[in-house]
Amino acid sequence: MTFIPAYVSYLRTHHITHGTPREPNLSELFRSSVLLANTLSWKPRRADESMIVGVIRRLDNGMDVYEDADLQRLARTQMPLDELRSRATMLARSSGRHSQDHLAELLVSWFKQSYMNWVDPIRCQLCERGTDSDGSGGAGSSKVKMECIGQGEVSLMEQVEGGAGRVELWKCQKCGRIERFPRYNDCRMLMKTRKGRCGEFANLFTLFLRAAGFRARYVWNLEDHVWNEYHSESIGRWVHLDPCEGTWNSHLLYTTNWKKHMTYVFGFSTDGCADVTLGYMPSGRLPLGRDKILERDLCRVIRITTERRRQQRHPGGATVEGDDDWRARLEREDAAERSWLLDWSKRKQEEADRVAKEADMNDDSLAGRQSGQAEWKIERGEAGQE
Ligand SMILES: [Zn+2]
Repeated sequence: MTFIPAYVSYLRTHHITHGTPREPNLSELFRSSVLLANTLSWKPRRADESMIVGVIRRLDNGMDVYEDADLQRLARTQMPLDELRSRATMLARSSGRHSQDHLAELLVSWFKQSYMNWVDPIRCQLCERGTDSDGSGGAGSSKVKMECIGQGEVSLMEQVEGGAGRVELWKCQKCGRIERFPRYNDCRMLMKTRKGRCGEFANLFTLFLRAAGFRARYVWNLEDHVWNEYHSESIGRWVHLDPCEGTWNSHLLYTTNWKKHMTYVFGFSTDGCADVTLGYMPSGRLPLGRDKILERDLCRVIRITTERRRQQRHPGGATVEGDDDWRARLEREDAAERSWLLDWSKRKQEEADRVAKEADMNDDSLAGRQSGQAEWKIERGEAGQE
């Protein structure tokens, strides 16, 4: 039994028997997911549940690293913050947008354009010696084909120095040399190598956002991409940033431009985690295939994880001075976010405004993924309309 069709048919029946013979709207569909979980006999696989809970636990735990004051200080030495701040202030004078939002947009663009290097293709150091070394795909890169031959064993130093969890092995089709691509997780190492793919980009950019004074989220989706969000005080919600693409507030980038499904999208910050899937869906579309865990259980896991994080941050709970205000503010934010996520009409208006503005600005509004080689994007189905 697939999840959504059963869900829709349940709700149709439900609405008709209650004298309202109409299609349930999307908010109703999503909001009543608890009913579905309780009504139908569908049960997710244990392995799927564990995977989802494991991801939530792992990424929630990972958020503490970015609060390290030394690490933030080091990150600030990497960024031209003064310059970006003054540009943001200037832009804000004429745009009507807040300078904080301009700064976020300038920062993500600088991070992609001027700081990080996208590792694709992997390059043979023997065959391509003498070509440009920045990994951006110079003239020689297409001549030597590299084939991924699997995962290698992580060396002790890769593990200790760079926090690498795995190493990709790439074989040069011309000379046979094997290149290692350790997937480093340690931010200090990433500030040295300044290269990677979405994982490295979103990881380091979370730190850069925190170091620049933003409240930041690390965002994960089941479809194998990660990105960021920051909390905009002027817009009053969490706003999308993709450090691989250098894009700001493009919530429909993945569904509309990349033609991806969005099944589960979770955002993690020092203030808790949230299911933000609906924020990345265009109006009129529901996430499909949400069959990994009961919605009721997912809500519970997210609530407990968030609560634990908020308890940890203020160990004394409500007895800490000012804690009530702080807690209450976060709870108001949670409620506002839920209502934004469920309010398709509002999001539809925002979407229309954004598309109109983009069409004014450039012709690239339906462009596919910018990072990565054409073949890789097509393989992942992220090439957009080509
Ligand atoms: Zn070679």
